[in-house]
Amino acid sequence: MILETLVVGALEVGCYIIGDKAGKEVAIIDPGGDADLIEQTLEKNGFKPVCIIATHGHFDHIGGAAALQKSINCDFLISAKDLFLVENIAEQAAFFGFAEVDKPKVGRTIKDQDTIEVGGLRINVLDTPGHTPGSVSLQAGNSVFVGDTVFQGSIGRTDLPGGSYDTLINSVKEKLFTLDDNTELFPGHGGSTTMKHEKKFNPFLNTLVL
Ligand SMILES: [Zn+2]
Repeated sequence: MILETLVVGALEVGCYIIGDKAGKEVAIIDPGGDADLIEQTLEKNGFKPVCIIATHGHFDHIGGAAALQKSINCDFLISAKDLFLVENIAEQAAFFGFAEVDKPKVGRTIKDQDTIEVGGLRINVLDTPGHTPGSVSLQAGNSVFVGDTVFQGSIGRTDLPGGSYDTLINSVKEKLFTLDDNTELFPGHGGSTTMKHEKKFNPFLNTLVL
């Protein structure tokens, strides 16, 4: 599997380019900013972008998508439950004190158990609401891109519009905890980790493990 990690935008979001090694088709997960850097990475490696996927609708995860769409003409995929965040992207950015960002054009919405095909790579969608109503995790083989649901040693904020602590904890228990312990987790901020490590050391989660 192709896996390139870029840290983009002022809030240092992990933007992941994943794809099929044989055909070089790729999906871009969470292009939060720095569209130029993303384009350069695609070009340098000869990647063929197939789609842009958002783990959720926060501006720091989707703020570079509109600029990217101008040059690569790809569908933008997001949960229908986070479309309200796409609509108010300008207000979100202003709330955090950032300049206005353009709104990406939504190609189609994604939901639990959908499969996104990127060349020979299959990406499974898991609904993991809580950080936002439409937060999803994206599973490709042994790797899961969890957005702002879980971080190394922490969990995502649940005090922003539509957030719910109980819903997030439930998503972790029902969806992420059922993954193999050796599953590698790639969060929306900070370094990667494993399910096993978080079950043992994450202070928000280790008390949930029986
Ligand atoms: Zn977020």
